[in-house]
Amino acid sequence: MKTCEIISVGTELLLGDILNTDAQFLAKELAALGLCVLHQSTVGDNHDRLLELLGQAAKRSDIIILSGGLGPTPDDITKEVACEFFEKELVLHGESLERMSAYFTAKGLVMPETNKKQAMLPEDCVVFNNNNGTAPGLAMEKDGKHILLLPGPPRELKPMFYESAVPYLKRFSDKVIISHNIRTFGIGESAMSETVADLLECPNPTVAPYAKDGEALLRVTAMADNEAEAEKLCVPMIEEIRARLSDYIYGIDCNSIEEAVVPMLIENKLKLATAESCTGGLIGKRITNVSGASKVFDCGIISYSNEIKHRILGVSKEALDKYGAVSAEVAKQMAKGALKISGADIAVSVTGIAGPSSDGTSKPVGLSYIALADKYNVWVKELNTSRKDRDYNRFVNSSNALNMVRLYINKML
Ligand code: ATP
Repeated sequence: MKTCEIISVGTELLLGDILNTDAQFLAKELAALGLCVLHQSTVGDNHDRLLELLGQAAKRSDIIILSGGLGPTPDDITKEVACEFFEKELVLHGESLERMSAYFTAKGLVMPETNKKQAMLPEDCVVFNNNNGTAPGLAMEKDGKHILLLPGPPRELKPMFYESAVPYLKRFSDKVIISHNIRTFGIGESAMSETVADLLECPNPTVAPYAKDGEALLRVTAMADNEAEAEKLCVPMIEEIRARLSDYIYGIDCNSIEEAVVPMLIENKLKLATAESCTGGLIGKRITNVSGASKVFDCGIISYSNEIKHRILGVSKEALDKYGAVSAEVAKQMAKGALKISGADIAVSVTGIAGPSSDGTSKPVGLSYIALADKYNVWVKELNTSRKDRDYNRFVNSSNALNMVRLYINKML
């Protein structure tokens, strides 16, 4: 069995300013992968002490996992010290630079020069893309020893661990490891974790919560000698979680809420129309990403301007003047309008302020209204993400609209 250890880097951890939840998460997940965790240590952002610690760690462990210190500022030195230890050169990784630049652009910002440092990666490393921040993670090898670097913020570290580190580490385990993702919508990560708190203590299968793109997920991982045994361990755990989180669960091992919603629409013989403002067609795109969408997707209207909201969808000028484009009333009228001009059975609409800048009113960035109309009724939901991240807001708005369709079909609106 390969041995591994965890090094948490950050002076604020030493000072007790933050709780080392990364180490707890990593320890549990590494054990679930069949890796023997021998040591855990915490070190400040200090070159000499980190270098010394790496030397000690490499003597006793095959795999060293470091978290934190991948940021753009001069005190973030983890990568530089790890490269010095393995005698590897840092070279510019063009793809990571492009990803980072796109990340800033999506937020309406220009990437600061200092961030370019994060795209300097060791030669011959395996790059772990960061879908929730800027710093890429990575794995590198020398003389049979492996070093993995992961970003400190848990919302970056956890998804990167599952998406990139687990596939990299699986080769070191002689057991079969099976994971199932239980995907929920409408419940936050903390509330979800509280509901299943006792299950999070289980050693095999393990249950780990994490948040991604405005959703909360539970990952059930079992380790056994063969696949059938591992699956057998997962079944009762998944059933228990299903019983506790029932209405929030939209799918198990499906990739997205649209993959759950399209088959539901097909099964219920319902046609859908959309009227989108700030999401600019994203709901339509996500629906039509799913094969079979032509059976259920009637049309999508991207009514970005007030003029089109009024002229095509029939939103009244009074409502636009009195409540503003981002309002419950306008969202309702958009959904009703889309229903009227289409041949659909239901219509969803979204109007909101995606940011990063405000719409010139006193309404906060991140505010949106999502409505669903059928022949008899119209329902509306107010959402405020309190975030200025344009991509995030647009994605979460579209997910909420899709979830509203799911709730409607399940008669839960
Ligand atoms: P950034 O690019 O945000 O600077 P980083 O990889 O350099 O990321 P750090 O600067 O070490 O990471 O930490 C950034 C933040 O991530 C911390 O302020 C803290 O909120 C969180 N964090 C870091 N390490 C841990 C940890 N071990 N456990 C929990 N949270 C952590």
